Amino acid sequence: MDFGDQAGPSRITEPLRTTKETHPNLPPGLILGPDGKPCKVCNSWQDWAKLKVKKKGETVESHGTAAIMGGGKVASRSSGKPSRKDCPADTEALGRSTWTFLHTTAAYYPVSAPTSTQTQMRNLLSSLSLLYPCVPCAEDFQEKVKENPPDVSGREGLSRWLCERHNEVNEKLGKESFDCAWKSLNERWKDGPEDGRCD
Ligand SMILES: Cc1cc2nc3c(=O)[nH]c(=O)nc-3n(C[C@H](O)[C@H](O)[C@H](O)COP(=O)(O)OP(=O)(O)OC[C@H]3O[C@@H](n4cnc5c(N)ncnc54)[C@H](O)[C@@H]3O)c2cc1C
Repeated sequence: MDFGDQAGPSRITEPLRTTKETHPNLPPGLILGPDGKPCKVCNSWQDWAKLKVKKKGETVESHGTAAIMGGGKVASRSSGKPSRKDCPADTEALGRSTWTFLHTTAAYYPVSAPTSTQTQMRNLLSSLSLLYPCVPCAEDFQEKVKENPPDVSGREGLSRWLCERHNEVNEKLGKESFDCAWKSLNERWKDGPEDGRCD
């Protein structure tokens, strides 16, 4: 995807497939990666767990959460598996880390960015939308960015733009919207709340 001043290749991806269509022997709804194999960063750990259970020949139990994702949507879940820090990321861990990086980078972005920095930020966001390893997430993000080109003019504009894109994902996943007012963004991603609990 080219946001204006970057010449870059587009990622070539096969249409998104799920195991329901292609692997009747695997748990239905597991997203496959471009290599045709179940893709860990495209699925939550719960879907992954279903795959493991199925491999062991046990009954696949529903966790009360829909698996996927027509139209590139990955359903999010948050039931209580203890998270380990030394395991590969699933879609939720990857998402949290990526949003943390993006919002924090925006919080420290120049208040008014010089042209060269604006170009770098456009390139970063363009590359992210092409390379993000959760393919359905990346494809959705590409669409949203096409509809709303990034505001890279300065800190406040970029922070708000990211907040709005993040809220689009929140909405898709049925999560609460975040308040994109500058004060809330600054508190969450740079200065911390006034009560000092994060100091
Ligand atoms: C580009 C991108 C696209 C994604 N697309 C998908 C997808 O299609 N399907 C899917 O299942 N997952 C997707 N994800 C992952 C998803 O957005 C979440 O990161 C993941 O579900 C974990 O959610 P979470 O509830 O832990 O908090 P996250 O949504 O990761 O948020 C982390 C923290 O950011 C803060 N926050 C929340 N909303 C905002 C906001 N609007 N602005 C600023 N701060 C905010 C909150 O304090 C929150 O605790 C995507 C991630 C990225 C980076």
